[in-house]
Amino acid sequence: MSKKIGVIGGGIVGLATAYKLQTEYPSAKIYLFEKEDDLGSHQSGRNSGVLHCGLYYEPGSLKAKLAVSGIEQMIEFCNHHSIDHEICGKVVVASNRRESVFLDNLAARGKANGLNGLNFLSKQELKDREPFVVAEKSLLVPGEGIVNYKQVMDKLSQLIQDNNGEILLHTRISEIEDRNNKIFIKHGSKEWELDLIINCTGLHTDRTYKAFTKNSVSPVRIIPFRGEYYKLLPEAEKLCNHLIYPVPDPEFPFLGVHFTRMINGEKEVGPNAVFAFKREGYSNTEFSLRDTYESLTYMGFLNFIRLNFRFSMGELGSSIFKSMFLAKAKKLVPEIESRHFVKGMAGVRAQAMDSTGKLIMDFRVIRNGNQVHVLNAPSPGATASLAIADYIIQEYIRK
Ligand SMILES: Cc1cc2nc3c(=O)[nH]c(=O)nc-3n(C[C@H](O)[C@H](O)[C@H](O)COP(=O)(O)OP(=O)(O)OC[C@H]3O[C@@H](n4cnc5c(N)ncnc54)[C@H](O)[C@@H]3O)c2cc1C
Repeated sequence: MSKKIGVIGGGIVGLATAYKLQTEYPSAKIYLFEKEDDLGSHQSGRNSGVLHCGLYYEPGSLKAKLAVSGIEQMIEFCNHHSIDHEICGKVVVASNRRESVFLDNLAARGKANGLNGLNFLSKQELKDREPFVVAEKSLLVPGEGIVNYKQVMDKLSQLIQDNNGEILLHTRISEIEDRNNKIFIKHGSKEWELDLIINCTGLHTDRTYKAFTKNSVSPVRIIPFRGEYYKLLPEAEKLCNHLIYPVPDPEFPFLGVHFTRMINGEKEVGPNAVFAFKREGYSNTEFSLRDTYESLTYMGFLNFIRLNFRFSMGELGSSIFKSMFLAKAKKLVPEIESRHFVKGMAGVRAQAMDSTGKLIMDFRVIRNGNQVHVLNAPSPGATASLAIADYIIQEYIRK
């Protein structure tokens, strides 16, 4: 295929897609457009850095399939290109009877998704691994790990450019012209004539969908949920050896405040999941009138708040009051105190919601003529990015 393909959005999904398109169609010309001065400035550069192996996701769902094949591919990619990563495993901790039942269900889910080596730990085994964790029941997930996603993105970018692809930074694509089976993109004095575009714009995907297709309604609405982290101070780093996760509420796609050892050796606790007043707003004082107005006048969001008022207030509280954040961390590691950690980074999740207020759990991609739109690629989108790219090519381009 000697076609011209534009990928819009230079996060890890856009980069993986551009890279895989080049591998699949070596004679095609690939352009990747990114509005920022750097790649991966948003979700892909502001996440937990965890390699998720497919524990949480509904068997048969896209997330389950693409997390399982995605982590395998990502590990292979990291090994091949000497990218820092480690399969250190994680423990998922149930703090009470109710959570123990959820943990049993989670283990069954993991098994159904084909995960090997899942193992409920005895009190002693847990103590040997994570001496400061207190649990009613705990599950070891040996296949999970940590990685430097920035290095992954740098390598993808290098490979794309080595193979004659073009990466155009500081190039925001606000509109396109779609006529006679061709797509025309203008930016400043430059113009590109393309055969196909893939929209991977993360937090803006509902808006770019409308702008590119000229449909007045997007199939989903992106609601931004900020995740805030705290960094453990050196004297508290002993409180976590590897990855320590709570049992997540099955109603939400968020995994809950967890302890993470990063690939650079630092340790973090977070993230919460707070409604963000700005799509790319990384602190609780950042505000965008447009973003807030659009969320607050969306029936789906109002339904979500109505149905999940306690959850929403709890997360907001954990953003404002360190003590509320601390309570979430203490559930896993009771010895942690607020003097043990300081504000760290934050990321904002692009979470798709429908008009009833339901959070869309699964990945979602659609094709509209010669446009492919990645409408929902939340966690584990970074782990699964190479598999998401394969899926896009297999289902929406090759067919
Ligand atoms: C707090 C947090 C923790 C997470 N933890 C993990 C984890 O541990 N493991 C995991 O696998 N996943 C995790 N995730 C999810 C993961 O980060 C995302 O699934 C993934 O990064 C999505 O990548 P993306 O390329 O779709 O989006 P993004 O990284 O947001 O990239 C979209 C890009 O599009 C660009 N863009 C937008 N509009 C335009 C336009 N009009 N023109 C040009 N460019 C445009 C943006 O600038 C941006 O660079 C986490 C996410 C968050 C927020």
